[in-house]
Parts: sequence; structure tokens; C-alpha cells
Amino acid sequence: MKTEILIPEAKRKKKSSRDRPHYRQQLSCPICHFTRLIDSGQNTRSETYVVGETGYLNADYYAKCPNSKCKADIGIRKIE
Ligand SMILES: [Zn+2]
Repeated sequence: MKTEILIPEAKRKKKSSRDRPHYRQQLSCPICHFTRLIDSGQNTRSETYVVGETGYLNADYYAKCPNSKCKADIGIRKIE
């Protein structure tokens, strides 16, 4: 059976994780600069705050850094 050869190219492309979606931008951790703390919309402007920093308590979202060596709580504020 050699039907597998007929698998269209599009299916292979799906597996590639190098193609980042253009409609997103990635926020990085301000402490360890881990590049993917969270994804935001392309037109969303955000600022990140670390604990104790001015603005942290007024953040809109809080995320925990996925970097196991960091795990910092990051406040994220949507500016526009
Ligand atoms: Zn981090």
C-alpha cells in the first residue's frame, strides 16, 4: 500500500509549529524573559508588571510565568 504518498502537503504544514499565527503577539515574562507568558491580540497593547511594581495591583489579568525556574506572578494591564 503506497497510498500514504498521496497525503497533501497542507497536512504536513499543520504539524509545523514554526508558523506563528499572525493575528497574535506574544508577551514575555519581564523577569526571566520567557517568550510566551501569554498571547494577546495583534491590536491589543499591554503592559506587564511584577509583584510590588506600581500598577501591579491595578492589572487587568494575572498570569503565572510558565518557566519552572521563574513562576513569577505577572500582572498584565490592557492599555488599549
Ligand atoms: Zn518568568
